Amino acid sequence: MNAEIIAVGSELLLGQIANTNAKFISSQLSELGINVYYHSVIGDNGGRLKKAIEIAESRADLIIFSGGLGPTKDDLTKETIAEHLNVPLVFDEKALETIEKFFTNQGRPLTENNRKQALVLQGSEVLVNHHGLAPGMLLQKGGRTYILLPGPPKELEPMFQFEVKPKLASLISKGGIILSHVLRFYGIGEAELETKIQHILDAQSNPTIAPLASDGEVTLRITAKADSKAEAWELINEKKREILSIVGKYNYGVDDDTLASKAVEMLLQNKLTISAAESLTAGLFQSELAEIPGVSGTLVGGMVTYTEEAKIQQLGIPKELLNQYGIVSSECAASMARNVRKKFGTDIGIGLTGAAGPEPHDGEPAGTIWIGIAIGEDVVTRKLQLSGLRNTNRLRTVKYTLSYLIR
Ligand code: ATP
Ligand code: MG
Repeated sequence: MNAEIIAVGSELLLGQIANTNAKFISSQLSELGINVYYHSVIGDNGGRLKKAIEIAESRADLIIFSGGLGPTKDDLTKETIAEHLNVPLVFDEKALETIEKFFTNQGRPLTENNRKQALVLQGSEVLVNHHGLAPGMLLQKGGRTYILLPGPPKELEPMFQFEVKPKLASLISKGGIILSHVLRFYGIGEAELETKIQHILDAQSNPTIAPLASDGEVTLRITAKADSKAEAWELINEKKREILSIVGKYNYGVDDDTLASKAVEMLLQNKLTISAAESLTAGLFQSELAEIPGVSGTLVGGMVTYTEEAKIQQLGIPKELLNQYGIVSSECAASMARNVRKKFGTDIGIGLTGAAGPEPHDGEPAGTIWIGIAIGEDVVTRKLQLSGLRNTNRLRTVKYTLSYLIR
């Protein structure tokens, strides 16, 4: 099944809002293993919308519309589709009842335009809108599936998740089941990972495998269709074993795991406490850890020591050490890690220092990072040479540190 998403609304073309609905729908469809080949954006214009529908019909068998289901004159999605498909619009009793109730409760008069919102394409499955008045629709005609969704994301998103997704899942699997499993990788680029498993990607059919890269991480979503859950899992696990036999050493987690959640899991399992002294990340490392419930069992505390004085006065880093090696140095990171560990009495101490950018810092080029990890009396340091923007470098520093803890 190949899909095209048509977002309707002049405000999208005017640059007043971003097309987040298409992004949302696409990611949902990828979970179902449905290919999205095109996104189209059309203004509130019947003629151009009709043309867009014709083009979509020539290259997609699932066409999803967002927007233009409201009561105003410029909302003309369903009217245009009705005319194009030669399907009449009829009143949906339940939707009409909801609208009438809404206006009675509000003490406002019901206009003809408001009633118009209860018009649906004859023969379509009506999708209940729990967060607004305009119902959605799913219509099958001429071997194609047309889905009409309201524009506001707070209406569209739940409607898609709870009404559309199950229907699509059963449509494509014809009563069977679709399961998705995500493998998460760190320390390997998307291109390198894809090259290593190219033969698996080329040969995929069921399950399908969709790679995605973001923020220095790569994920592979494995999606299987089968008659039963057990069978789907069997297909997924077989593919998973095949993939991990090649790139397993970069795999840190699955599904909703994050580097932080895995790091906290490891620390708690090993009954280890941790503290951190942060310069360039200014608390970001601890903040990432603190996103994980139960972190108080391991994160004791830490310090942000941004300036040289703070490092000397608050953390007790010897001035001579900073004079000799500089702030962006292995020695400084090691000393920060060692001292914060002592100060907070933890098993592990982390010291993060570096030149976040865009300017060089203390004679070191932007993106030069030193990470110190004190475990008991031992200290190791790691150098990163990053090339991103300032905040990307700060985040990458944190991610690398978390990944180091997991390994
Ligand atoms: P309404 O009943 O609110 O008029 P509608 O189905 O007619 O709903 P539109 O009028 O097209 O939808 O859009 C309503 C609002 O929804 C827009 O002002 C915008 O805030 C949001 N919206 C519409 N399309 C998108 C989109 N593609 N991505 C994100 N937000 C959108
Ligand atoms: Mg509208």
